[in-house]
Amino acid sequence: MQAETVVDLDAIAHNVRVLCAHAGDAAVMAVVKADGYNHGAVRVAQTALAAGATELGVTTIEEALRLRAAGITAPILSWLNGNDDDYASAIAEDIELGVSSLAQLRAIAAAARASDRIATVTLKVDTGLNRNGISPTEYPEVLDALHALVQDGVVRLRALFSHLARGDEPRHPANDRQRDRFTDAIAAAKDRGLPPELVHLANSAATLTRPDLRFDMVRAGIALYGLTPVPDLGEFDLRPAMTFQASVALVKAVAAGEGVSYGHEWVAERDTTVALIPVGYADGVFRPLSGRFAVWLGGARRPNLGRVCMDQFVVDLGDNAAGVAVGDTAVLFGAGAVRAQDWADLLDTIHYEVVCSPRGRVARRYVGGDR
Ligand SMILES: *Cc1c(COP(=O)(O)O)cnc(C)c1O
Repeated sequence: MQAETVVDLDAIAHNVRVLCAHAGDAAVMAVVKADGYNHGAVRVAQTALAAGATELGVTTIEEALRLRAAGITAPILSWLNGNDDDYASAIAEDIELGVSSLAQLRAIAAAARASDRIATVTLKVDTGLNRNGISPTEYPEVLDALHALVQDGVVRLRALFSHLARGDEPRHPANDRQRDRFTDAIAAAKDRGLPPELVHLANSAATLTRPDLRFDMVRAGIALYGLTPVPDLGEFDLRPAMTFQASVALVKAVAAGEGVSYGHEWVAERDTTVALIPVGYADGVFRPLSGRFAVWLGGARRPNLGRVCMDQFVVDLGDNAAGVAVGDTAVLFGAGAVRAQDWADLLDTIHYEVVCSPRGRVARRYVGGDR
């Protein structure tokens, strides 16, 4: 076995059901940007739609087109667009386009006119994240332009949405401020004669902790993949879908006094046995984990010894009473005793980045689902 991520589609389906229960009457959009947080956008999307999600969210038109090419017909929103993106293809494939500026709206309208089709747009209003989204100063102008385009039959307004800056801090007043600004933005659109068909604000964290922010739909990403969006509040019955694993390439003795791996940062105090795991930083095992993490192998946590290299690292088996042998599976992270959150804690990052890390030579395999 080459190093692989195993993606459990049954876990994805379970997580969708958890999210649907929390969403109540609100619809669930499955966020499958960045190739489904590195779980594979197409399979995740198909699984999520079968389990109760009704829409899909991505950041780029290219990502949306890949889902369409796989035969997915559900509504797809792409929300991180520029002024010269391939709007013609997006309109032809019925991709809903997020608008963050007047210039983007004009570019979309030009593409719609050129192709003689109506573009479906969703306004992304900035309510305080100050990243993507229409700024409050430009918002009135965008509404005026949109009103004219809707009147002319060039564009259809589907929805209005915004994104939270501190959704993972459920009680932070910034969430209330963003909710209030969002409500004001909805009112302004209605006043301008542009009632949206639906409005949405919540990410995974808000879906699970702030029922007052659900509106008509929630946009769930990380929870779909089984990772808690608010680690301090527990797991919310979510199941991690990704396991990152590799099989042992070599088992050998290391004598007392010998150093292990580049720089000999670890030196054996006594005779021991080590296992070589053939996966390294080129495959997504962050080098700063060196000497600080463990894998699950032979029924126990086995600590890494010395530096993580480009293609490999070494773990300690002690006297190898468990009889670990070449070909045995070492789990780097997954659902059990070694978790993506452990890496995140060690690296001072978030599990979102950890699951996005396996790459290159790492294969992906699916289990579960209706195959
Ligand atoms: C990524 C993203 C989401 C999903 O966020 P999670 O924290 O993963 O649930 C929702 N909305 C927008 C606009 C996003 O960019």
